[in-house]
Amino acid sequence: MATFNPRYTDELPEIADLVIIGGGIIGAATAYFAVRAGLHPIVLEKQAMPGTLTTPKATGAFRAQFDNPEEMALVREGIDFYAHFSERTGLDGYDLGIHQQGYLWLATTPETARRQREVVDEQRGWGLNDVELLDGDEVRRRFPYVSEGVLGARYRAGDGWLDVRRLLMGYVRASQAPLALDTTVTGIEITGGRVRGVRTSRGTVATERVVIAAGPFSAEVGRLADLDLPITCVRRQRVILPEAPEVPPDAPMTIDEETGAHWRPWLSGAHLMWTTPTEPATPPMEDVPTSLAFAYGLLNPASDHAVARISPFWRDVWQRNTAHWLLVAGQYSYTPDHRPLLGATPIDGLYVNCGYSGHGIMGSAGGSRLTVDIITGAIASADNPFRLDRPFAERALDVL
Ligand SMILES: Cc1cc2nc3c(=O)[nH]c(=O)nc-3n(C[C@H](O)[C@H](O)[C@H](O)COP(=O)(O)OP(=O)(O)OC[C@H]3O[C@@H](n4cnc5c(N)ncnc54)[C@H](O)[C@@H]3O)c2cc1C
Repeated sequence: MATFNPRYTDELPEIADLVIIGGGIIGAATAYFAVRAGLHPIVLEKQAMPGTLTTPKATGAFRAQFDNPEEMALVREGIDFYAHFSERTGLDGYDLGIHQQGYLWLATTPETARRQREVVDEQRGWGLNDVELLDGDEVRRRFPYVSEGVLGARYRAGDGWLDVRRLLMGYVRASQAPLALDTTVTGIEITGGRVRGVRTSRGTVATERVVIAAGPFSAEVGRLADLDLPITCVRRQRVILPEAPEVPPDAPMTIDEETGAHWRPWLSGAHLMWTTPTEPATPPMEDVPTSLAFAYGLLNPASDHAVARISPFWRDVWQRNTAHWLLVAGQYSYTPDHRPLLGATPIDGLYVNCGYSGHGIMGSAGGSRLTVDIITGAIASADNPFRLDRPFAERALDVL
């Protein structure tokens, strides 16, 4: 394992080549790809450590199974990068805790099974050829914990999850970019339509290049430059059971495609999640409250979206009632089409890398590499499918 050597700095420089606002996974990844491209970034983070807001709330899952080719390509770039992280970054032996145990999407109605076949056909058309379609018997043969009610599944063995904190700190260590902590950006200076600097709680930094990577606070930071970013914040929660011997440790991410409830093994237990369809949009928050109803909705077999619907062993966990569990909550930063906002803005020198709509861990490498390519001019803005001035098609809520 590489030695621990992030560059936290107490000194704010007077001038910077590139300022990155936000020290979550996206700010850290932007700094890494910026350094790789020959830039000299500094990351400004309002909290006393990097990665304290949304990033540690994530379950760290990644999947190539998307419903559009652009996001699929972005995440596949990341999956490949994470698989070769130590070679690519030079952090010899650095372990991201990757588990490629697959994503298993379960259908319990003929309609959903039919839709799954269409999705997989489309994905094959985009070059994703390793998604398997399984009938109910085959699903139960390979994953014996799956319920009799399951009629079919789509499954990709190469999907999985990684340790979010290790990925974050891997970017931080590998970039060696200075990170100014306890530093809140309070203003963005613009003259003649061009960025000239940022004001912070600890002084001003002159710069002609700024990236907004402030997660749920990105729209708020954008307003400092009179920039209107179409981001809506919605609470998302996760139940954590560190110990539940009923959970098969080698199971894939197991998703009820009907309800969106899903779980995956973690330590000797599991993480469990669900997208509450009625969750209202709220302003960005530092402390996102949890709700017990969320946990009961997943764990109580009587709930219409209980995980016991697709994997009956959860009924035993509930009835046993001795497994400890806890809840965490963060916010998804949704854009109207649930795809990230990457690249240039109408203000020269101001860039965005935000709005990941729940896919910021898996998208961090591809999205940040692309953002940096736009900054350096290696890619023209017109060729960026995630540019801010794209037409936004409204999209239904994803189950994940
Ligand atoms: C419950 C849950 C589960 C999830 N699961 C997954 C998953 O499995 N896979 C996946 O890919 N994604 C997942 N996500 C989404 C993922 O967590 C986010 O997309 C990702 O963490 C966003 O990273 P970020 O760096 O943009 O934001 P953040 O981690 O929120 O970082 C933004 C940073 O900006 C700082 N900041 C804000 N304003 C200022 C300012 N004015 N000055 C200085 N600093 C500022 C904040 O302090 C913060 O540290 C999940 C999210 C949640 C809530």
